[in-house]
Amino acid sequence: MSATPLSVVERMVPAHAPFTLLSPTAASKAHHAMDLIKSRIRDIPDFPRAGIVFKDLTPLLRDPAALASAIGALIEPFRDDAITAVLGMEARGFVFGALAAQALGAGFVPLRKPGKLPAATHAVSYELEYGAATLHMHIDALTPTDRVLLVDDLIATGGTAAASLALARLTGATVCGAAFVVELDFLDGRAKLGDCRVHSLVHY
Ligand code: AMP
Repeated sequence: MSATPLSVVERMVPAHAPFTLLSPTAASKAHHAMDLIKSRIRDIPDFPRAGIVFKDLTPLLRDPAALASAIGALIEPFRDDAITAVLGMEARGFVFGALAAQALGAGFVPLRKPGKLPAATHAVSYELEYGAATLHMHIDALTPTDRVLLVDDLIATGGTAAASLALARLTGATVCGAAFVVELDFLDGRAKLGDCRVHSLVHY
């Protein structure tokens, strides 16, 4: 029996599905999709330094079926939110964010480390485990009429996502939620996102 939480299965039902409860066939397909996604995430111990277990998503990127399932499941709760822009955090958030944007019919906004964006930027600094980091976004990337989804590969302490949320809100845009392929529950990163809706596919 798979450990996939029911809530994840429910969220994978297409928005146009006529019933709240999944048919056995649909439930089995959703479980299969989630199992496939999980099987394409591998642990790399002691990377980038001793004591960190790095969740490597490159096998997921390499598998077309798993990647398509992951993008579909990432955007599923936000399909009816009229998202106009997906914000992706450098660098793995660019891949998942751009694909999510395409699937939602939205545009993509890159959030980048200092010195990378060519035009005028907003900047937000945040704490890392050791030291601090800063994320930038072009000032003209969003307007108050935009409806935004944040996307990254993984939420750990939540510092990166909280900085991204702050950048989006600086512009007056509406942030509809944040979506992650992986959430490290024991770090409680979602607590840093306050009332922002958080959706993660795989929990550790
Ligand atoms: P945080 O700001 O602590 O939530 O860290 C999130 C960012 O760091 C994401 O962009 C992840 O790509 C990366 N990250 C943090 N911890 C891990 C981990 N254990 N495995 C893979 N990526 C990680």
